[in-house]
Amino acid sequence: MLTVTDPARRPQPAPFLLQQRAALLTNLPLTTEQLAELFGYLAPRLAMQGCDHSLGHTRCFAAAQGLRFEPLRQFLGQHDGTCDCAVLARVEARYATIL
Ligand SMILES: [Zn+2]
Repeated sequence: MLTVTDPARRPQPAPFLLQQRAALLTNLPLTTEQLAELFGYLAPRLAMQGCDHSLGHTRCFAAAQGLRFEPLRQFLGQHDGTCDCAVLARVEARYATIL
């Protein structure tokens, strides 16, 4: 007899969510930890200084982390993260489910 704690009866993640997660993790130019740190880095700076429609803060973060900026810029651009506030608004929204 199956009980509610039987592993076979636990809900499994839907396959499309796993595919989506795998797609988001493909070709990441930084670790997911660094990506989460980037969002944490941008939020207070944008709150204090606003966005100047560049990736200036993202560039500073990349330099501080020893990351190459160009692959990061291209990656963020693929997710419509064309300036610092767009990175926070659009890229973070997409990655929120996996970070
Ligand atoms: Zn902006």
